[in-house]
Amino acid sequence: MNIAEWLASTARLRPNAPALLTGFDLDADYRTFARRASAIGAALARDHSIAPGDRVAVFASNCTQYLECLYGIWWMGAAAIPINAKLHGREAAWICSDAGAKLIFVSDDTTAALLEAKGDVPSAMAMLSLDSDAFRAMREGEGTPAPLARDVDDLAWLFYTSGTTGRPKGVMLSHGNLVAASTCYLIDVDPATPKDASLYAAPISHGAGLYNFPHTRMGGRHVVPESGGFDPDEVLNLARNLENVVMFGAPTMVRRLVDAAKRRGENGEGIRTIIYGGGPMYLADIREAIAVMGQRFVQIYGQGESPMTITSLTREWHTKTDHPRYLERLASVGTAQSVMSVRITDKDGRPLPTGETGEVEAKGTAVMLGYWNNPKANAETLKDGWLRTGDVGRLDEDGFLTLSDRSKDVIISGGTNIYPREVEEALLTHADVREVSAIGVPDPDWGEIVVACVVLEDGATRDDAKLDAHCLASIARFKRPKRYVYLDALPKNNYGKVLKTELRQMMRK
Ligand code: ATP
Repeated sequence: MNIAEWLASTARLRPNAPALLTGFDLDADYRTFARRASAIGAALARDHSIAPGDRVAVFASNCTQYLECLYGIWWMGAAAIPINAKLHGREAAWICSDAGAKLIFVSDDTTAALLEAKGDVPSAMAMLSLDSDAFRAMREGEGTPAPLARDVDDLAWLFYTSGTTGRPKGVMLSHGNLVAASTCYLIDVDPATPKDASLYAAPISHGAGLYNFPHTRMGGRHVVPESGGFDPDEVLNLARNLENVVMFGAPTMVRRLVDAAKRRGENGEGIRTIIYGGGPMYLADIREAIAVMGQRFVQIYGQGESPMTITSLTREWHTKTDHPRYLERLASVGTAQSVMSVRITDKDGRPLPTGETGEVEAKGTAVMLGYWNNPKANAETLKDGWLRTGDVGRLDEDGFLTLSDRSKDVIISGGTNIYPREVEEALLTHADVREVSAIGVPDPDWGEIVVACVVLEDGATRDDAKLDAHCLASIARFKRPKRYVYLDALPKNNYGKVLKTELRQMMRK
């Protein structure tokens, strides 16, 4: 078992099938893709003394060489640490040193960041640019015909959490985890076919990258936009011509894509599936997305510790408007994915009955091996194989999971729990509100009060009373914000997630 065997087998069965494209330009067919991966693997062992089990980092923006590198690392039995290219050089250096990486692949745009953080970069770690002649020579060298055999539990992908709740932790994903995640993808998310174009508008270092496996297995096209990132117009233009496009997008990306489609009077032609998740998608936003783009959406709920693989809400549920519980289901994150079980527990870890709200726990073959070098976090997070997600939610009698919030974000005001998401959902339906984040701020009378941090639409005026009246029309009086704060933008991390910790700190000052 080695995930790189999926590339080797497709290269044998469909050698001439287009594999890697930048925009519309073909970079490699499957024969070439596998040959390069194998050559990179051989060079890592021969020229850089990398041994099976060693860690090799990739700190680069999206490009087709990124995928060649990942498969090269796996081909020779090492583990990959894909690092988000938008991280600060010091953050990347910290990850490399925590993981004991022996070599780091960089790209032109990340080299400078890493050089700036020189003092923090492990001195024994070699650095190689994907844009260099040395790399180009590396992938043209001699390789081995087959990837090195690995165990199902051997480390393949060391994924660092985004750190919205503290210092990033290294999540250890095995070759078996990657196969399990791909199985879920094929059964629960989208039936990948050889005709597909898997479009990497989101970072390959994260969920979008994990979704390469089913497409490699099926011999589909991997397409990296020329911009290397997310430009909604570029995505719409590419999709129209590539056809059968499948892509992952965080909720903010979906919103921007829908806005662009609306502006252009289009409906996302050429896109078969947009998989969204990684953060809350508000009901108003997904309804708007469906109204503009139709039946192209699948939602996933996961976290680094069980990547993209806890639950999913199928394509069909997005448009079952005649179902009596349509809106309730659309507001949920769907049902457990095929290799997973989900349960709700109380604060002592005891399972709760259907319908009750508590912590979401997940178990199954997609759940990580554990955190890298972090026994304390392992003991807190994994209990009898159950992953404690830190999310609060409830299951209905058909197994649909509705998330309330992250347990750390729940606001306790006057002894009552208030889920910020409910407040945010209510405010977002106001035409003047572009973005909002509700947080709890300490208060001598109430313990905590709800503060709404609001970003208004252009031209809208600040008016607490108007927003307050709007809240009262849909949520209970005690849940409505006691204070409104107007901001130009919400602080977000590199993955577009709102940093509530930062907002809470700002409000305390
Ligand atoms: P860290 O663990 O370092 O704090 P993080 O919390 O951002 O980082 P990720 O793995 O990036 O960790 O994000 C996972 C979290 O994102 C989930 O636990 C959940 O709170 C949220 N999430 C993921 N998918 C969805 C979804 N479909 N709907 C709502 N929330 C989601």
